[in-house]
Amino acid sequence: MRTRAPSRGVRSRSRRGGRTGKRLLSGLMRCGSCGGSMVIQGPDRGGQCIICSNDKEARTCDNQSRYYVERIDAAVVDHRRAQLKTPELLAAYITTHREERRALEAVSRRRRAKVEKGLADAKARDRPDRRHDRRRHP
Ligand SMILES: [Zn+2]
Repeated sequence: MRTRAPSRGVRSRSRRGGRTGKRLLSGLMRCGSCGGSMVIQGPDRGGQCIICSNDKEARTCDNQSRYYVERIDAAVVDHRRAQLKTPELLAAYITTHREERRALEAVSRRRRAKVEKGLADAKARDRPDRRHDRRRHP
């Protein structure tokens, strides 16, 4: 199994610009054998696990391994924690975080402007024409 770097691809992003899912790597993990997406198989004795979607749904992948979500999340947190102890990596993380925040804010501003324009257009359409009303109701 491998992970992809977070992308701006449609499949791993919600309509609001954030990734979907409740787990750290939701939507980012791919099967190391076939590249298929990893999907929740359900809990077993070891907890919640994921498997290759191509194995689960079409049986077209020979990777029948199960990967436990809690272990994956713990490994990600441990790795991230170790990275943040290095000043250069911490600075890079902060820079990347700020860039991502700015990008998300820009998306929100554009979306808000579009909604506000739609609202203004709708109000203009619904506004009674005063001259027309005067002629009708003197
Ligand atoms: Zn696979």
